[in-house]
Amino acid sequence: MSLPSPRPDRGALEGYHSPQLDVSVRLNTNESPYEPPREFVDAWLEALRQVPLNRYPDRAATELRRGIAAALGQPAERVFAANGSNEVLQTLLLTYAGPGRRSLVFEPTYALHAHISHITATEVVTAERAADFTVSPTEAGLVIAAERPAVVLLCSPNNPTGTVESRATIEALLAAVIDHGQGLLVVDEAYGEFADESALELVADDVPLVVVRTYSKVWSLAAMRLGFAVGPPSIIEELEKTVLPYHLASATQLAGREALRFDSEMRARVDTLISERRRLAAALERLPGLTVYPSGANFVLVRVDGDGHALWQRLVERGILVRDFSRWPRLDNCLRITVGTPEEDDALITALREVLTEVAA
Ligand SMILES: *Cc1c(COP(=O)(O)O)cnc(C)c1O
Repeated sequence: MSLPSPRPDRGALEGYHSPQLDVSVRLNTNESPYEPPREFVDAWLEALRQVPLNRYPDRAATELRRGIAAALGQPAERVFAANGSNEVLQTLLLTYAGPGRRSLVFEPTYALHAHISHITATEVVTAERAADFTVSPTEAGLVIAAERPAVVLLCSPNNPTGTVESRATIEALLAAVIDHGQGLLVVDEAYGEFADESALELVADDVPLVVVRTYSKVWSLAAMRLGFAVGPPSIIEELEKTVLPYHLASATQLAGREALRFDSEMRARVDTLISERRRLAAALERLPGLTVYPSGANFVLVRVDGDGHALWQRLVERGILVRDFSRWPRLDNCLRITVGTPEEDDALITALREVLTEVAA
């Protein structure tokens, strides 16, 4: 007997993994260090008690979409919600890319963009970011004209570099996509609320632009798996046709709706994390042997002037876990540090002070 082999066109996939070690300070997955407000949890559980569990959820997630749209000053018809922004991205690629079509990514960037392209049988075209990790609008325009990707995936603020693209760059990419006539620009704003720039204002009914956001980081709700897209209603309708019916559980829809009522608490958390990011980045800059990249997200990328992996290992030995990118293409000796609580960040700085000299070039 033999077992079947999987589809060969998924590419050489290693799956997605970020090692989870048992440490006291976890600064490796860009989650919020703060739990959502207790009152939110109570309100959600109370609402959940009223749900008839023998019935399927609202397939169109009407109230949730209305709520998200209202919070953003958008019409509800422009909002599509799914199980995390990863499901949103997968639905976009299933609908607008797939066999015989291409996606374009700007490396180094979020690995899931290429990964989801592969599992949807989409050919991935790779463009390079500049040395400062920004996307050059001129070069991007040339690549888009030459390769005619069905979907252009732009992550801003970019994971793992923190880079925020200017409005001018986003407009240039959009112009190039419109020029070739068949493309869609997807801006992944998983960290959008931590930055000053957003592509949301560019969304319009006749513009091939979709902005993707998530409750995972900003709303302290990574466990909930809730993300959404904002785009032209005609595109949203197509996404609804692709996604599995009843994909979004009632519990998730309710959590998303209830969370919106705690908007000011959420904003306070975001503001806290932004000022803590500034403090952390300034402290890192004062340490010898580190290059700190500007970030508009809830994490900071650093390049170690020395052995980045050895530094990661020594931090683990001191109970601190950051994300090791040191052996990734284009990210030699880089580590990504999620902004934590002031106590966690202080523990990191103290540990770095002790071990940086040991790994210096
Ligand atoms: C964390 C992250 C996501 C999040 O995905 P969810 O499925 O919403 O948890 C999406 N895009 C980027 C760039 C991320 O870093």
